[in-house]
Amino acid sequence: MKTVEQKLANNVANTKWRRKLRKEVISHYGNSCECCNESTNRFLTIDHINGGGNQHRKDIKSDGGWQFFSWIKKNDYPKDLRVLCMNCNWGRSHNDGICPHKEVINNDWEWEL
Ligand SMILES: [Zn+2]
Ligand SMILES: [Zn+2]
Repeated sequence: MKTVEQKLANNVANTKWRRKLRKEVISHYGNSCECCNESTNRFLTIDHINGGGNQHRKDIKSDGGWQFFSWIKKNDYPKDLRVLCMNCNWGRSHNDGICPHKEVINNDWEWEL
Protein backbone atom coordinates (compact mmCIF):
# COMPACT_ATOMS: atom_id res chain seq x y z
CA MET A 1 0.00 0.00 0.00
CA LYS A 2 1.28 3.41 -0.90
CA THR A 3 0.84 6.30 1.46
CA VAL A 4 -0.90 9.44 0.32
CA GLU A 5 2.45 11.25 0.34
CA GLN A 6 4.02 8.65 -1.89
CA LYS A 7 1.13 8.84 -4.28
CA LEU A 8 1.39 12.61 -4.43
CA ALA A 9 5.12 12.49 -5.02
CA ASN A 10 4.54 9.98 -7.77
CA ASN A 11 1.94 12.18 -9.40
CA VAL A 12 4.25 15.17 -9.38
CA ALA A 13 7.06 13.14 -10.93
CA ASN A 14 4.70 11.76 -13.56
CA THR A 15 3.34 15.16 -14.39
CA LYS A 16 6.83 16.56 -14.85
CA TRP A 17 7.83 13.64 -17.02
CA ARG A 18 4.71 13.97 -19.15
CA ARG A 19 5.19 17.69 -19.60
CA LYS A 20 8.77 17.17 -20.66
CA LEU A 21 7.75 14.46 -23.08
CA ARG A 22 5.02 16.62 -24.57
CA LYS A 23 7.39 19.56 -24.95
CA GLU A 24 9.96 17.39 -26.62
CA VAL A 25 7.50 16.04 -29.14
CA ILE A 26 5.85 19.39 -29.88
CA SER A 27 9.19 21.10 -30.37
CA HIS A 28 10.31 18.32 -32.67
CA TYR A 29 7.38 19.14 -34.91
CA GLY A 30 8.07 22.85 -34.92
CA ASN A 31 6.55 24.42 -31.80
CA SER A 32 3.71 26.22 -33.55
CA CYS A 33 0.47 25.49 -35.34
CA GLU A 34 1.14 24.66 -38.97
CA CYS A 35 -2.06 26.38 -40.01
CA CYS A 36 -2.28 29.62 -38.02
CA ASN A 37 1.13 29.80 -36.30
CA GLU A 38 -0.35 29.72 -32.84
CA SER A 39 2.61 29.08 -30.55
CA THR A 40 1.09 29.14 -27.08
CA ASN A 41 2.20 25.76 -25.84
CA ARG A 42 -1.02 24.77 -24.15
CA PHE A 43 -3.08 25.32 -27.30
CA LEU A 44 -0.96 22.94 -29.30
CA THR A 45 -1.67 19.34 -30.13
CA ILE A 46 -0.42 16.70 -32.53
CA ASP A 47 -2.49 16.13 -35.63
CA HIS A 48 -2.54 13.28 -38.14
CA ILE A 49 -1.93 14.89 -41.51
CA ASN A 50 -3.96 12.29 -43.33
CA GLY A 51 -6.67 11.98 -40.71
CA GLY A 52 -7.41 8.71 -39.00
CA GLY A 53 -6.37 10.05 -35.63
CA ASN A 54 -9.26 8.51 -33.75
CA GLN A 55 -8.61 5.03 -35.08
CA HIS A 56 -4.93 5.40 -34.40
CA ARG A 57 -5.54 6.51 -30.83
CA LYS A 58 -7.75 3.45 -30.38
CA ASP A 59 -5.04 1.23 -31.79
CA ILE A 60 -2.46 2.43 -29.34
CA LYS A 61 -5.04 2.71 -26.56
CA SER A 62 -4.46 6.39 -26.04
CA ASP A 63 -6.82 9.26 -25.50
CA GLY A 64 -4.39 11.64 -27.12
CA GLY A 65 -2.56 12.21 -23.88
CA TRP A 66 0.87 11.18 -22.81
CA GLN A 67 0.64 7.63 -24.21
CA PHE A 68 0.30 9.19 -27.62
CA PHE A 69 3.37 11.39 -27.10
CA SER A 70 5.29 8.46 -25.77
CA TRP A 71 4.30 6.41 -28.83
CA ILE A 72 5.46 9.21 -31.15
CA LYS A 73 8.88 9.29 -29.53
CA LYS A 74 9.22 5.52 -29.54
CA ASN A 75 8.33 5.47 -33.22
CA ASP A 76 10.95 8.05 -34.05
CA TYR A 77 8.59 10.93 -34.78
CA PRO A 78 6.49 9.68 -37.73
CA LYS A 79 6.37 12.08 -40.66
CA ASP A 80 2.60 11.97 -41.05
CA LEU A 81 2.12 13.96 -37.87
CA ARG A 82 2.32 17.71 -37.32
CA VAL A 83 1.51 20.38 -34.78
CA LEU A 84 -1.86 22.08 -34.92
CA CYS A 85 -3.52 24.23 -32.31
CA MET A 86 -6.71 22.97 -30.72
CA ASN A 87 -8.78 25.37 -32.82
CA CYS A 88 -7.41 24.19 -36.13
CA ASN A 89 -7.43 20.57 -35.03
CA TRP A 90 -11.02 20.71 -33.92
CA GLY A 91 -12.14 22.89 -36.82
CA ARG A 92 -10.57 20.49 -39.25
CA SER A 93 -12.23 17.45 -37.78
CA HIS A 94 -15.61 19.13 -38.23
CA ASN A 95 -14.92 20.47 -41.70
CA ASP A 96 -14.10 17.43 -43.83
CA GLY A 97 -10.43 17.48 -42.88
CA ILE A 98 -9.63 21.08 -43.80
CA CYS A 99 -9.23 23.84 -41.27
CA PRO A 100 -11.97 26.47 -41.67
CA HIS A 101 -9.14 29.03 -41.70
CA LYS A 102 -8.44 27.77 -45.19
CA GLU A 103 -11.84 26.90 -46.53
CA VAL A 104 -15.25 26.31 -45.01
CA ILE A 105 -16.66 23.15 -46.53
CA ASN A 106 -19.11 22.00 -43.99
CA ASN A 107 -21.48 24.90 -43.52
CA ASP A 108 -24.06 22.82 -41.80
CA TRP A 109 -23.50 24.27 -38.40
CA GLU A 110 -26.12 25.84 -36.23
CA TRP A 111 -23.79 28.63 -35.13
CA GLU A 112 -23.13 29.79 -38.67
CA LEU A 113 -26.34 31.76 -38.90
ZN1 LIG B 1 -4.02 26.88 -35.52
ZN1 LIG C 1 -6.41 26.85 -38.94
